[in-house]
Amino acid sequence: MRRRTRPVKVGPLTIGGDAPVSIQSMTNTDTREERTTLEQIDRLQQAGCELVRMAVPDVQAAKMLAAYKRQMSLPLIADIHFDHNLALLAIEAGADKIRINPGNIGGKEKLGRVVTRALEKNVALRIGVNAGSLSREVLEKHGGATADALVESALDSLAFMEGLGFFETVISLKASNVAATVQAYERIADQVSYPLHVGVTEAGRGTRAAVKSAMGIGALLLRGIGDTVRVSLTGDPVQEVSLAKEILQAAGVRHFGPDIISCPTCGRCSVDLEALLAEVERITENLIEPLTIAVMGCPVNGPGEAREADIGISVASDQGGVVFKKGKVVKHAPTAEIIEVFTRELSSLLAPGTVLPERNK
Ligand code: SF4
Repeated sequence: MRRRTRPVKVGPLTIGGDAPVSIQSMTNTDTREERTTLEQIDRLQQAGCELVRMAVPDVQAAKMLAAYKRQMSLPLIADIHFDHNLALLAIEAGADKIRINPGNIGGKEKLGRVVTRALEKNVALRIGVNAGSLSREVLEKHGGATADALVESALDSLAFMEGLGFFETVISLKASNVAATVQAYERIADQVSYPLHVGVTEAGRGTRAAVKSAMGIGALLLRGIGDTVRVSLTGDPVQEVSLAKEILQAAGVRHFGPDIISCPTCGRCSVDLEALLAEVERITENLIEPLTIAVMGCPVNGPGEAREADIGISVASDQGGVVFKKGKVVKHAPTAEIIEVFTRELSSLLAPGTVLPERNK
């Protein structure tokens, strides 16, 4: 069951409460280059990103946030390090949320100025604690960037912010070590009801990053922890969005389209199942229905999985296979016709008027 959290408004979107676990990403263009940054924001939005964070390294970037706000519909988060004045400028420019790292903002007095202005302007804050930038005192006390060190750093800032009457806070505790990240989130989840931004920071790229992110974020989501996610990948941030979607769907917390089950094939499979699967993926690519689709290579596990799915193909021999729908055999068909039968039966499960792609000849 999902952990109960306080809802925090970020522009038109809510993080926490009953709101779906949202997907965020961060632009990696130069914030001062408006055209390339807007293009990337557009691509992120097309991919399904729901909140966009931007680095604000200097005054020029902070002031430009107003222009971005006028030209984008997604909530904008300003990412601030080192200089609290940039946070104040970002608030004036209309940022919907400010991410602050308490380890490098320059002490409580400066944090207090940002909190007070955010309170006046109704802007949310994220306390983004990062293992790489914990204060010297916290590191010495815990003997390094442990889970407890991350939690202590966050709790310290939260108590200070609450003392100023500020509660619109989202928390993140990020370490590049998956186990430490999961442990830190679990510990803070027991102690506060603020929504949590979850992710594994500096995960790298490619398969390694995908595995680390899926393990960290997935482990937390399966325990009901996490209200917004950011997958951190070196490379095009659009990939972060598609990976975040896959993780949320695999954890069963959101559904963005069909879930396709396919067997790995083995010596019993007598057709090109990979080609069959590719065709099913192509046909179903743009669907939003949360259907389960099975594509299975032989009668060992094929009929069982295909029967459990909303619709499925189970190959029976090199001569053909069976299409199942809602637990029943619909038709035996030769391999050459099986996609046609599948497509026809799939249509009957979709909203009226849904047009599926033409079959590849
Ligand atoms: S379903 Fe059949 S072909 Fe696929 S992996 Fe299992 S035994 Fe092999």
